[in-house]
This record gives sequence, structure tokens and C-alpha cells, in this order.
Amino acid sequence: MRVLDQRNLPDERPASMDESGRRVFIFPAPVSGFWRRSRSIVEIFLIIFFLILPWIKIGGHQALLLNIGERQFSIFGLTFWAHDAPLIFFLLAFLTIGLAFITAIWGRIWCGWACPQTVFIDGVFRKLEYWIIGSHIQQRNLAKAPWNIKKIFKLSLLWSLFLLVSLVIAHSFLAYFVGADSLVEMTQYNPEENWTIFLVMGFTTAVILFDFGWFREQFCIIMCPYGRFQSVLMDDDSLTVSYDPGRGEPRRGKTKSEEPVGDCIDCYKCIAVCPTGIDIRDGLQLECIGCTACIDACDEVMEKIDKPRGLIRYATGNSLRGIKSKFLEPRVAIYSVLLIAVISALIFSVSKREDIVITVLRGKDSPYQVIKKDGESEEVINHFKLRLKNQTFENLSLEMVLPDIWKEKNIHIVSQTQAIELEGGKNSTLHIFIKFPPSVTGVEGSRNIKLDFIDAKDNKIKIQEDVKLVGPKSI
Ligand code: SF4
Ligand code: SF4
Repeated sequence: MRVLDQRNLPDERPASMDESGRRVFIFPAPVSGFWRRSRSIVEIFLIIFFLILPWIKIGGHQALLLNIGERQFSIFGLTFWAHDAPLIFFLLAFLTIGLAFITAIWGRIWCGWACPQTVFIDGVFRKLEYWIIGSHIQQRNLAKAPWNIKKIFKLSLLWSLFLLVSLVIAHSFLAYFVGADSLVEMTQYNPEENWTIFLVMGFTTAVILFDFGWFREQFCIIMCPYGRFQSVLMDDDSLTVSYDPGRGEPRRGKTKSEEPVGDCIDCYKCIAVCPTGIDIRDGLQLECIGCTACIDACDEVMEKIDKPRGLIRYATGNSLRGIKSKFLEPRVAIYSVLLIAVISALIFSVSKREDIVITVLRGKDSPYQVIKKDGESEEVINHFKLRLKNQTFENLSLEMVLPDIWKEKNIHIVSQTQAIELEGGKNSTLHIFIKFPPSVTGVEGSRNIKLDFIDAKDNKIKIQEDVKLVGPKSI
């Protein structure tokens, strides 16, 4: 196994790769300090939040459910279906623009502080390595050591725990997609009864185990699409973890004794703690995930040599060059306007959203028919097609009735059923005929009436629909 030589980083390729493209393993040193403590608090909060969120219910529904199979979504009390295209569009637009906005201002804050990979590797997997194998030096020595009973035992124990953690993460992850209650139910049955879910679970566990246990920084450097977009999303006004060359250079030991030196003592501590094996002193690099480990490492060194902290710190490219950074630069202003527009559209769509949508369409046959009632008086019949869409997760029982004012005018609904049963999230079509005396449409030949749909649960009007009756123009 090849391990990173932090004092001899290659210039022409990522440090985690040798000249033939094979993996070079990184064993970052632990770090302590303000940013490490802050990130630990955030990591604990995020891990707990991720694990308990599927079990929290709001209004009887899972707080966050993305059931793609049944095209059913629930986001903090807001429930919608795959056919709610505007809502889904605005939600995705909000997430995309929001991430671009955050990146433009705070750089890779997502990668360093909130990405599940960083949070779980840092908060759980590395902790298990320290617990089972020991310090980063012991880990590196064990990796280089020949296979023996001790190595087999330690690595077996470590990977068994990795597997256990991966299983917990995979179950929690899938709970967001199939529902926590359904998942618990499924785990009680034989895998044969739920082969698909069982295989998805196995695959998810294997991916997590592979990525968080072994692949790690390789994913950020080689595969992460968000990482690739960083360079276009950030500019010289974005806040990033940066080394201050104006203060640090020339490094101690790189000058003649009489020349002034900068604050960097070339101790390599910032490289030793870096999980992606880079030298932040070479400037902003694609591999930097903004984890802040080098800030803490360097601050510790600065304290020891009696220099001010912050040789490596959060800073913008412009501020390091002595140029005042603009917060509301054009790119951020555009993102802000787009974000406000998308949030407004989202709020508007949510506020206008009805539990049930009913569309009244006129039947394709003739607009009206006139029949003789009892062979004497005439009656007009209009044919309508009702399309009903239940947008809630609950089954709905509705009764279709005419308000008394129209009943008194001898208007009647003729339908197979006036009680409508609508399953949660399902659509239904119903044909109805409305009979009325010609006097209802009178000389105009038309009249607008209303149809009430009463909810059987509370006997209250759930929705009212306008219906236009047409008939012969009577004199
Ligand atoms: S350079 Fe610093 S902030 Fe960037 S990944 Fe390495 S340790 Fe983390
Ligand atoms: S930790 Fe600070 S002083 Fe040491 S090499 Fe890095 S930048 Fe220089």
C-alpha cells in the first residue's frame, strides 16, 4: 500500500494518486481547535437529525418522505404528488439556486460542514479507526505492515463496525424513500417478500461501506459533480479556507539569514491534517473541501511561536490581495433575485393548492337535449364529465349536491352515484347529467349554477364548482 509523503507532494497530479494512477492512501493527523469543536457540534446535530427525521410526523405524515415508487412526497407538512409539477419544479429550483447562492458567498461550506460523506467519515468512521487501530501513525503503520493475526483481527473488527454503521445509515436513508413505518414492517418479513427493497438496501449499504470506509477523498476529487462546479460558482469574493501568502511568505528556512521572513515556519502541519492531502499554501485547489482542519493546525503553530492566529483562515481572494470584498456583487445579486422569485412562486403555489381539484368538462355529445317529460312538459338535459383529483394522502368521501336555491327551480343531478369515494393521490372521472326545465336557462339560453361537494367527515362544503347550464332560448 502506498501512503502519502506529506513533504513531497507531486505538482502534476492529485496527491492521492501515484505516477501510474494508483491510489496513494492518506492518513490525516487529528486536529483540535475552535473550528474542529464547532464542526463536531454541527456533525453530531446533523447525524442525530438525519437519524430521527424519518420518525418525526407532522400532521400525521412523515416529516420528510420522498416516496418515488408511489410518487408521493411529504416535506415538513406539505404533501404533494408527482403530478404537482409546478411545486416540484419550484422546489428543485429553490435547492439548485440556493446551493449556487451559498457557494458564491461561502465557497465549499457545504462540502466541509454538511455533506453526508464528510459528516459521517469525520463524525463516525474516523472515530472508529482511532478507537480500534489508534493514532494516524498507528493506522499508517498497520496499513504498511505485512498481514498477520493482529492486522487481520483489527481490520476485521473495524470493518465489522463499519458494516454495522453502514447498515444503520442505509436503513435511515431508505426510510426517507419508502416511509419509516413501511420499512419497519418490511424488516419483519422474509426478504423474498420484498426482494426489490432488500436488494436496494444491500446495494445502498455496500455503496456507503465502500465510499465512507475506503474510497473517501477519491469521491470528492474524481466523482462529485458539485465539486466539479465549484470553479464556476465561486469567484474572488467567495469566502474560502485560504493561506495568506502576504503574511506567510517567504517561509522560514527558505531565505538567507539576513532577509526578513514571513510567519510560515514550513512545519507541514497544515498538510499533515488535510484529508485530501493538499498544500493549502499553493492556493485554492479543486481538492480542498473546506474542512478547516488546516486553520486549526496552523493556529496551534502560530500560538506556539507567538504570532497572531489566522495565517490560514476564511478569507476571500480579493481580501488577501488587499481589495475590499463586495458582498452583493452581480452574481450574488442575480442569485438573490432568482431565489426571492422562486420562494415567492413556491409560497404562492402552496397557498393556492387545494386538497381536491375538480374540473368540469362539457360532454362531447350535443350541448343539450330536450326531452318530453310525461309526454307533456319539456325538460333539458346537459351532460358533464367531472375530473376529480385528490391531492391529499387520505381517502376522501364526498357527496355531490345542488344548493337548495337550484333544487327549488327543479334542477336535478342524474348520476350513477352522488357519493364519491376518492383514494389519496388518485384521480377519478364521473359522468353526470343535469336535468332542468327550459325556464332555468330562459331567454339567455344559459345559466351559471354551483355544485357543492360535501365532505362526509364533517358534513361541510369541501369545494364548490361552477357549472354552466345551456338550453334553448325560450321566449
Ligand atoms: S486544504 Fe485545509 S480546508 Fe482544504 S481540505 Fe485540506 S485541510 Fe481541509
Ligand atoms: S501549518 Fe502554518 S506555519 Fe505550518 S506550514 Fe502550514 S501554513 Fe506554514
